[in-house]
Amino acid sequence: MGKLIVSKFGGTSMGDAACMLRSAEVSFRQGSSLIAVSATSGTTNDLIVLGKTAETKPWPEAEVILAKIEQKHVKISDDLKISAHAMERLKVLFEEMNSLAKGIHLLRDCSVKAMDTLMSLGERMSSVLFAEAMAQVLAKHNSKKVAELFDVRTVLRTDDSFGRAKPLTSEVASLCSQYLGSLRDGKTVVVTQGYIGMTDEGMTTTLGRGGSDYSAAVLAEGLSADVLEIWTDVAGIATTDPRLCPKAKPIKEISFKEASELATFGAKVLHPATLLPAVRKNIPVFVGSSFDAEARGTWVRKDVEDHPLIRAMALRKKQVLVTLSTPEMLYAHGFLFQLFKIFNDHKVSIDAITTSEISVSVTLDDSALLNKKLIADLSQFADVQVEENLALISLIGNNINHTAGLAKHIFEAISDINVRMICLGASKHNFCFLVSDEQGPEAIRRLHECFIEAGTEEMA
Ligand code: ADP
Ligand code: ASP
Ligand code: MG
Repeated sequence: MGKLIVSKFGGTSMGDAACMLRSAEVSFRQGSSLIAVSATSGTTNDLIVLGKTAETKPWPEAEVILAKIEQKHVKISDDLKISAHAMERLKVLFEEMNSLAKGIHLLRDCSVKAMDTLMSLGERMSSVLFAEAMAQVLAKHNSKKVAELFDVRTVLRTDDSFGRAKPLTSEVASLCSQYLGSLRDGKTVVVTQGYIGMTDEGMTTTLGRGGSDYSAAVLAEGLSADVLEIWTDVAGIATTDPRLCPKAKPIKEISFKEASELATFGAKVLHPATLLPAVRKNIPVFVGSSFDAEARGTWVRKDVEDHPLIRAMALRKKQVLVTLSTPEMLYAHGFLFQLFKIFNDHKVSIDAITTSEISVSVTLDDSALLNKKLIADLSQFADVQVEENLALISLIGNNINHTAGLAKHIFEAISDINVRMICLGASKHNFCFLVSDEQGPEAIRRLHECFIEAGTEEMA
């Protein structure tokens, strides 16, 4: 029996008919059994604008966006010359999109729940088109396999945290064996949607922006797949974001732990939660470019051969630093417990933290500030100071907390840039600190030059 491969293709890999056919060729060559696709590039953003426009603006403005989304998908369907049956499916989805937008407009209410159903249309439309592209590629290669469109909501059960739903792992596993148990037979190539799921009550959910990577990992876990492939627009994970630093180099192999830190601390190439299911089932993850499938790409595994001091670095923009001070923290216990309870009650996640005798500082994504109640609750028991427009820089590697002189080299490289907060010690894989948002990209370029381009052999 062959390997069971789950593949995911991102928005740019679904960009137009040529991209879809190229991606389908990659899947065919790899022998993927299940393919989860993102919405065509830009469509999720368009759907969000559609929801907000329908809620707050005159109806003709929403109609303009509806027409734009429809035309984009019709163009791809024309270029692919899809079957009448697939065109019918697409039309049903267009009608659903129109009705949803109209409902939002009439009620003047676009709740997170409504937004999730609206956004799900991006992946539902792209998967109809990609299933056709896959069928054409299979036919071209005289393959006996058939491409089958599958609604992922049948198996991807989630909780009801709309906009950021959590997959229910054991339910997903049993639904996968119930509905996709025959995948290993190798007779079908299942094409399905990333990003979306369904609650027990049958409500459509989404896993949060960029969540298709996570969906594919959850499906790979549910199916006990042998390999998870993430196909995107870059040839694997690089030493930093290539858009930020043109000298970024591709990484051949990286451990689960390092890659998780990298994803959590801002490397958009993987959704932060992607590696959790892969780690639980020890499924190796390949990251490659659907535009250049010959390029080597990156393997993410439990055990890797080399363990460089600094393997990669990430930048996470739009961070805020919240400092809470109270003399009551002096000699007292339970302060941090109360603090974390408030963040927990508001479902806000903290990235980095430092404390002194009477104060504690935490970093959050700036979206947390939209939650006025959070700040009000924190103010109940401490003075709250908020600093905005910061960027979190993380250096990712090995043995970071046991290497003499590392901090000296880091801060020498950026000696004229003010460092607002430093976090070191909790992880041997991560050293992170805050600088201003404006200086973040320059700091990354200098650190990349110092640690990646020049090498760190003498320090390790
Ligand atoms: P997709 O739509 O395929 O999911 P994304 O845009 O979400 O693609 O992720 C790919 C992008 O991630 C790349 O174009 C690149 O700019 C960015 N990126 C950030 N950090 C890294 C990194 N360390 N290595 C590679 N790409 C990175
Ligand atoms: N289409 C969704 C987004 O743009 C999910 C994804 O592409 O991973 O966020
Ligand atoms: Mg992505």
